[in-house]
Amino acid sequence: MAGAIARHIVVIGGGIAGLTAAYRLQAATLSAPLRITLVEATERLGGWVRTDRRGDILIEAGPDSFLAAKPAAKSLALELGLGDELIGLRQGYKGAFIACRGRLEPLPEGFSLMIPTRLRPLLTTGLLSIQGKLRLALDLVVAPRRDDGDESVAAFVRRRLGREAYERIAQPLLAGIYASDAERLSLLATFPQLRELELRYGSLIRGTLARRHTGQRGGSAFLTLRRGMGALIEGLVNQLDPVDLRLGETATALTGRQGSYRVRLSRGGELEADAVLVATPAYAAAELLEQLDPELSRLLCGIPYASSATVTLVYRARDVAPVARGRGVVVPAVEGRQVTAVTWVANKFEGRAPPDLAPVRVFLGRYGQEGILERPDDRLVELALEELHGLLGLRAEPLSAVVHRLPRSMPQYLVGHLDRLASIDERLARWPGLLLIGAAYRGVGVPDCIASAEQAARATLATLQIQASAVS
Ligand SMILES: Cc1cc2nc3c(=O)[nH]c(=O)nc-3n(C[C@H](O)[C@H](O)[C@H](O)COP(=O)(O)OP(=O)(O)OC[C@H]3O[C@@H](n4cnc5c(N)ncnc54)[C@H](O)[C@@H]3O)c2cc1C
Repeated sequence: MAGAIARHIVVIGGGIAGLTAAYRLQAATLSAPLRITLVEATERLGGWVRTDRRGDILIEAGPDSFLAAKPAAKSLALELGLGDELIGLRQGYKGAFIACRGRLEPLPEGFSLMIPTRLRPLLTTGLLSIQGKLRLALDLVVAPRRDDGDESVAAFVRRRLGREAYERIAQPLLAGIYASDAERLSLLATFPQLRELELRYGSLIRGTLARRHTGQRGGSAFLTLRRGMGALIEGLVNQLDPVDLRLGETATALTGRQGSYRVRLSRGGELEADAVLVATPAYAAAELLEQLDPELSRLLCGIPYASSATVTLVYRARDVAPVARGRGVVVPAVEGRQVTAVTWVANKFEGRAPPDLAPVRVFLGRYGQEGILERPDDRLVELALEELHGLLGLRAEPLSAVVHRLPRSMPQYLVGHLDRLASIDERLARWPGLLLIGAAYRGVGVPDCIASAEQAARATLATLQIQASAVS
């Protein structure tokens, strides 16, 4: 190692993706002459992952949990020594409800990420009319679509299960995950497993029945950390020892040539780098790359983002006991409301609030309703209260309210997203050592972002011919 010139890797963006990449890369500094710099535009690390404490109440600004079925987040938490903090969904509470013509109906049991794993609850649910259920059953005979092209999730669900199943069940669940318009959301980029079921079994129902026997059961579907999702960020940051952290510095341009890049910084400096991992939202990556590769920048600009807001209202538990059923409510667009979902925070995970208090998180705004963010905080609180009144009949006065604004927070994987990614990859192939990671590309969930960062860290070290075995 002595005398060798250190290679320099710059990570731009300190959300969960950028932090994970830096953490994975730094393992290689033990055995190779390597410097790592992480540039983050704000003064805080974590991006959308952020836990706030207000007295005894734990409030998540962004994600409140992650899918257990995708192992990357759990594995990272274990590796960071957070195993004792991992908790699953709180037992003893019914799952989610769906608003339906002014009532609340339980989400049919066995629904996991849009995929029904049990049939009987679907046939007995009050969410669908008799005609809706009959149409759903036609899935057994509707022929699979032949061509390989992409289609919207809405078109797919309507085609297989009918309009009612789409409007009353699929649409509100999708809105909860992607804050999006399912009419434009790519099936292949978001739920390829549904298309696989169709192709393999000729029907979602037959596929569901077949999967029942594959024994995919047990354990909580979602996990979080006792101190909130922010503990994952804290765990990562505590381990970033040799990484040079530049907080409050925006990367403004990436220039240079193949394998030798320059990152311009907002305070006037410039970093030279052998490799650059861009872990910002796609629109910020587009700006950064405008000079280096205008076509790549144009492709990135085509990934739109949805904006929304959440209002967390803290009630006395006794004031909301009659309506605080289950872990929360999702609200279909056909209900014509501005609220998309409501989470009874303390029913979902333990340790979020003392027993006499009941925080409720109200999600406002759908894709295309960006105007919601033009309202001042007090109007957003008023709107949340009006919506809770309309949806649940809740009139009690909350003790406090916290507003989180989420501008351009959720990338939208529109129909054709995978083709766009293929074109992006083609452009990137011209730029060895330049990688794009994070929620904009191959999965918006925290585990997806972690997995994309881990893969990119391995690929970067391979490009620089640094022993990849040094990265765990
Ligand atoms: C309200 C909400 C709820 C969610 N709930 C869940 C959930 O329950 N479970 C789940 O798995 N996922 C959830 N998600 C999704 C998940 O949290 C995000 O997709 C993920 O955190 C994105 O991480 P990231 O690192 O890709 O990007 P970000 O968190 O956006 O981080 C990007 C970072 O780059 C910085 N940056 C931008 N431009 C520059 C620049 N030019 N120079 C330097 N720095 C720059 C930004 O300041 C930011 O810190 C939720 C998201 C939101 C918004």
